[in-house]
Amino acid sequence: MTDLLLKNVRVPQGGAADVLVRGGCIQRIGPGLAVDPGTLVEDGAGALLLPGLVEGHTHLDKTTWDSPWYVNEVGPALTDRIENERAWRARTGHDAASHSRALALAFLREGTTRIRTHVDIDTEAGLRHLEGVHATRQELAGRVEIQTVAFPQSGLLIRPGTAELLDQALGQGADVLGGLDPSAIDRDPARSLDVLFGIADKHGKPIDIHLHEPGELGAFTLDLILDRVQALGMQGKVVISHAFCLGGVDAKRLDGLLRRLATLEVALLTTAPPSRPVPAVRACREAGVTIFGGNDGIRDTWTPYGSPDMLARAMLIGLRNDLRRDDEVEWAFDCVTDAAARACGFSNYGLTPGARADLVLVDASCIAQAVAARAPRRLVVSGGVVVARDGRDALSQG
Ligand SMILES: [Zn+2]
Repeated sequence: MTDLLLKNVRVPQGGAADVLVRGGCIQRIGPGLAVDPGTLVEDGAGALLLPGLVEGHTHLDKTTWDSPWYVNEVGPALTDRIENERAWRARTGHDAASHSRALALAFLREGTTRIRTHVDIDTEAGLRHLEGVHATRQELAGRVEIQTVAFPQSGLLIRPGTAELLDQALGQGADVLGGLDPSAIDRDPARSLDVLFGIADKHGKPIDIHLHEPGELGAFTLDLILDRVQALGMQGKVVISHAFCLGGVDAKRLDGLLRRLATLEVALLTTAPPSRPVPAVRACREAGVTIFGGNDGIRDTWTPYGSPDMLARAMLIGLRNDLRRDDEVEWAFDCVTDAAARACGFSNYGLTPGARADLVLVDASCIAQAVAARAPRRLVVSGGVVVARDGRDALSQG
């Protein structure tokens, strides 16, 4: 692989610098770096240097990206949306491989080099969607790191056979075990969670649970989850996605739950939707709870919204949490960079020597401006190779 010198950029702390990349990793960041002949040189022209962005929660297998517009006429309940999607998939023969590939490449053009995607596992489709996303993961290896979560979208206990399929999915290389509303969907939370944690424990894999349950119902389920994290010693290996209940309980109950989350190193994923109560970024940070960001679905049968631009997601997180000062907007940026990498376990991440050279250049004076303006990506480097310029695919030069 050809060495790369990214000249004349500005690091987020403010100074001018060059970045030397060797063997796909950052070797040095500093002013006026000298290089050997034969090194590929890119002039950053004073642009702001960011690390590769991280999508902490999406559903690549569901997207209609790169397809005609999906006309959404779904009913209002969660179960309406689940049934509607299953029927649509059966009717259209939706191909998870080609759609996940198209969306993952769109993420890459916008500077996202790491993605955690939940993938539907159910008794009708079996592991078909997972196999499609794994084909994309393999094809894009080295450009986009894709982490898969085996996700029981149609429920676990209420659809007998799902637990066995989740077990198979982890055996076939899914990185994380997913879960879904053990009280509201499965209606037997203790048993549902015992089955789920049993599968994860058998494979030694982390867990990421969708918890949409509101208020005290969600808080009750969350306590049951945390009991099992504690009993199995899974500190640092569990994520609660959405956790809307944390936006819907009183201050004393919230304080107790945040303390438990911090102690057990359980992270929270937020999409910061304007239509639901959400865990507050400020309160989580003050309590020492890692909170990070994601889109959830992008242009699928659930929602027409979402974007592969993670600076746009950071902006929505900032808006939803009333983050106005530059240092507060940086918390929103942290949600789509360091916090997401830490919570998902993406290794060799960041703007430090030894990290994988995932680099993004934007025209902005600082991180707050990059987020507020959703600054266009001038250059994207993944694993030391230039992969996109000005939002378009670039030929490999490494
Ligand atoms: Zn989701």
